[in-house]
Amino acid sequence: MTGRILVVDDVATNRIVLKVKLASACYEVVQATTGRQALQIARAEAPDLILLDVMLPDLDGYAVCRALKSNPETAAIPVVMVTALSDTQARLRGLKAGADDFLTKPLDETLLLARVRSLMRGRGAGPEDNPLPGPRPDAPPVQRIGVIPARPDSGVRLHRALAPHVAARVAVATREEALAASKDQPDLFVIEAAAETPEEALHTMAELRARPATRHAAMVVLLPPGDEVHVAAALDQGADDALCLPVAPEELGLRLTHRLAIKEAADRRRRDIAEGLRLSVIDPLTGLFNRRYALSHLDAIAERAARTGRAFAVILVDFDHFKQVNDRHGHAAGDAVLAEAALHLRENLRDMDLVARIGGEEFLIVLPDTDLAEAERIADRLRCLVAEHRVTARDGHTVLRATVSMGLAMGGPGAGGCDPATLMDRADRALYAAKAQGRNRLRITPQAEDAA
Ligand code: GH3
Ligand code: MG
Ligand code: MG
Repeated sequence: MTGRILVVDDVATNRIVLKVKLASACYEVVQATTGRQALQIARAEAPDLILLDVMLPDLDGYAVCRALKSNPETAAIPVVMVTALSDTQARLRGLKAGADDFLTKPLDETLLLARVRSLMRGRGAGPEDNPLPGPRPDAPPVQRIGVIPARPDSGVRLHRALAPHVAARVAVATREEALAASKDQPDLFVIEAAAETPEEALHTMAELRARPATRHAAMVVLLPPGDEVHVAAALDQGADDALCLPVAPEELGLRLTHRLAIKEAADRRRRDIAEGLRLSVIDPLTGLFNRRYALSHLDAIAERAARTGRAFAVILVDFDHFKQVNDRHGHAAGDAVLAEAALHLRENLRDMDLVARIGGEEFLIVLPDTDLAEAERIADRLRCLVAEHRVTARDGHTVLRATVSMGLAMGGPGAGGCDPATLMDRADRALYAAKAQGRNRLRITPQAEDAA
């Protein structure tokens, strides 16, 4: 089964007709005959989609839809309301109740299945869905709608009709303008199809989807009166909504507003995921990569070196007597020393070099494509930079200084091999030697030790 659909209708024949059509497309069908039963089944069985008749014996369809959308358990389930043909008022009420889409009786099978597929595809993209809790931006940016009309005069008409019914800014653009722009693109495109060449609108949509700047924009296609064949085609080709003209401006406004809310939520989810990924690899105090990231990145550098045959350097850095820094000046001052030193390290290395904070006051530096002489020079320069740097404590007077000890091990097929654990171990021994020999110095694992 490809999905479970709850059909809500008090007339048995209607339910049976829908069930046969949906079952032939391999959907599992659950049935309810009253509004209350629909609410109970929706909560208990969490269907993927609900086809909801407006006329029910107890609650009417609008009340059921409102109840579904106001319950967090069921809010994300798409609801398609089934209304009488061309009943604009009924559709407006449905949209205001939170319906995701409409079908009109008598049901057209192609259109029914195209709408169902389209909503199933977007399942889980409801504006209420938020898998990652976290602070919300204060005010969402003003969204923008781009209208691509079939002809210049209809662009003016569409703009005039739409603008009073949406909070978003509406602008008209030609197909060429929309496809050529690479930034500041609208959140939603309304693409109007020409009566003679409706396929062109679908091509435009496909072209916009293929461009990075417009890939995530919502797409709504307006088709000539009665062209239900292309409505189904548009939905199957990824339109978020497709409608035959004429559409009442208020209805179009509500539909676009609904699409924009979903787009907003999807944008937010993408940002949350990107931010979550960033936070999982970044150390908050210094902004450097953390240990987890550093070790996997070291693996990657070592693997690449094994292929290219080029040497790379692994350098462990540990602050000297850092306990004393904390004891004398306080933990916050110690933190400032670490954060400023981290900045120095990052600013004085190449982009391809890895710098990470792998412990409290321990850092790892990996320099790809670097031979011993160069690595030694770089490491010693960094050591001097830290030693020369002065950090002013929070009292504004006390000046702190700190030094680091460093242990360097060379990796690469020609040098000490490419096993990350072995290299880390050798760098650690070199670091230990630097500490033992007086600190504020760099020690290199002698090649002789490799053999030992
Ligand atoms: P050594 O020269 O032998 O490395 O001496 P050390 O005092 O640095 O010794 P050790 O490495 O054992 O101790 C590290 C100290 O660094 C312990 C802890 O108080 C301090 N430290 C670790 N992480 C942080 C941190 O995030 N902030 C601050 N302020 N101090 C930290
Ligand atoms: Mg330490
Ligand atoms: Mg230390």
